[in-house]
Amino acid sequence: MGTETKEFKAESKRLLEMMINSIYTHKEIFLRELISNASDAMDKLYFKSMSENTGITRSDMEIRLEANKDDRKLIITDNGIGMTKEELENNLGTIAKSGSLAFKNENEKTEDVNIIGQFGVGFYSAFMVAKKVTVISKAYGSDEAYMWESEGVDGYSISEAQKDSHGTQIILEIKDNAEEENYDEFLEPYKIKQLIRKYSDYIRYPIKMDVEHEKLKEGSKDEYEKEIVTETLNSMTPIWKKSKTELKDEDYNQFYKDKFYDFEDPLAHIHTKTEGTATYSALLYIPAKAPYDYYSKNFEKGLQLYSSGVMIMEKCADLLPDYFSFVRGLVDSEDLSLNISREMLQHDRQLKLIAKSLEKSIKNELKKLQKNDREKYEKFFDSFGTQLKYGIYESFGANKENLQDLLLFRSSFVPEGDGEKKNGYVTLEEYVSRMKDDQKYIYFASGSSIARIEALPQTEMVRDKGYEILYFTDHVDEFTVQMMHDFNGKEFKSVSADDLGLETEAEKEEIKKAEEDNKDLFDFMTEKLSGKVKAVKLSQRLKTHPVCITSEGMLSVEMEKVLSAMPDEQAHNAKAEKILEINASHPIFEKLKTLYAEDKDKVAEYADILYSQALLIEGMPIENPVEFTNKLCEIMSK
Ligand code: ADP
Repeated sequence: MGTETKEFKAESKRLLEMMINSIYTHKEIFLRELISNASDAMDKLYFKSMSENTGITRSDMEIRLEANKDDRKLIITDNGIGMTKEELENNLGTIAKSGSLAFKNENEKTEDVNIIGQFGVGFYSAFMVAKKVTVISKAYGSDEAYMWESEGVDGYSISEAQKDSHGTQIILEIKDNAEEENYDEFLEPYKIKQLIRKYSDYIRYPIKMDVEHEKLKEGSKDEYEKEIVTETLNSMTPIWKKSKTELKDEDYNQFYKDKFYDFEDPLAHIHTKTEGTATYSALLYIPAKAPYDYYSKNFEKGLQLYSSGVMIMEKCADLLPDYFSFVRGLVDSEDLSLNISREMLQHDRQLKLIAKSLEKSIKNELKKLQKNDREKYEKFFDSFGTQLKYGIYESFGANKENLQDLLLFRSSFVPEGDGEKKNGYVTLEEYVSRMKDDQKYIYFASGSSIARIEALPQTEMVRDKGYEILYFTDHVDEFTVQMMHDFNGKEFKSVSADDLGLETEAEKEEIKKAEEDNKDLFDFMTEKLSGKVKAVKLSQRLKTHPVCITSEGMLSVEMEKVLSAMPDEQAHNAKAEKILEINASHPIFEKLKTLYAEDKDKVAEYADILYSQALLIEGMPIENPVEFTNKLCEIMSK
């Protein structure tokens, strides 16, 4: 036949152009693509041999790699089904039908890079690293072999060739090093080994390469000689395909540390194999510590995604809800095509089913950990609890049912006879199980530390009643329970809320009367503190302490504090409606009454000082510390 020269079809040309000029930095994926094609070709032969009794078995099949630095050739040979002349032309002359690449918009450069990165683009990716690609193939059962050759967009040629056995050989003439591109390394055995382990470790056929080793010369102690050893570069059976009974915790942990570059053992692992609506195996891990960028914008969640042992995506975000973004691991499914595009993946029904079922497994594992190994669970919560709370807050409570049982809070509870365990973590269920018969609410108090919270005057009354108080030290805590509203019907109540639900009717009446009797005084103080507090009132909750600040409405003082610390300027405008509460049974109240009759200016000054004191108790900054201390000293010097 001689040599036939042909042009590529238009869309193939575009893809090729993209490959040749690729700015994509992970050019290394070409090897994964070619190996996976080889593996497919062997699968095809294997299936054929099963139905036709050819006598060929899996163990006869292998992929061979050869790198030659001198002529810059990297050769990949398989003994799979091979291609006929027509197949060479149809399969390599046009872009793969299964490739499902969305090339509609010429300008989508960045999208292109994404597609290459996440999925590769099959055979043509060879042109990212090779200036010339030669394919010699002999179809199984045929006597003829053919050679396909191309140096890029100009076209390709097909000619007859010599080849002893069936299968395909791909010869890449590796590009010369460029300024910013090191192509040489694709000819280095160490690099090739590394790439196979990274992307193709679980290909079910051996990938072999002759590697040169130095070995001690026989009979000598210090003389070495070169020796060629055929090495199998891939391990072939992925750990997640093995049965659980074969594996020990150490195996799982070692795999985790190697794969995800963590020094510490994970807290737990989940190994599942599911068949049915979604067929997949998954191996998931709960790390012991959050990565340093976990709570930053840079952190990318996601699981590795494999299609029948071949990695197709490094981080598939769609597999994990944000609140479980700390989970690391991988999913392997036969239902996903190797060349599925990112966009298609997002709408893939199968993937959604897998994600749903993974979410359930993760939640169950965490519940199990909480129940069976509380210490470990608390460690987990120290690292990732905030994320769970965000999960509830950010969904406006929609994820509450899913997450509320996983929450832990510090509390005032002291286990009987064990003061050591003071202020430990409690679950909401534990809190509710300890609630007193007459207790209506789940009480909480917020502050920057447990010590500060314990000293808050506002907690006095609740504590006196013998009610447990949750201690909120995490910024998001109050926002979270506000979104939750209640836990199993029990509402959350801040110790600083305007109605604590503790006073008897008689007590309320008494306070109300005292307030009415001194209406002028309170009005005067409110006016003097206008813009700072919404009102000055007598307190229902203080027993020994003179003053405190509480708030009305949705926004608490603690929340204001959090918002004002946020980078978002707008958040700084959110202010709590503050109430300055004064203890009616404290001597200061009598003093205020007397002063109001004698010297109103003094009352204004006192109001200012009391307000500043209340702010300090809350851990809030006071507007003018110098003025405050001066006034205080003035009074002290009298
Ligand atoms: P895809 O693998 O997604 O179909 P490719 O561009 O990688 O796309 O390959 C195109 C086609 O070429 C494959 O579908 C297959 O039919 C054929 N092919 C590629 N490599 C080989 C090989 N080593 N042996 C046999 N056929 C191959």
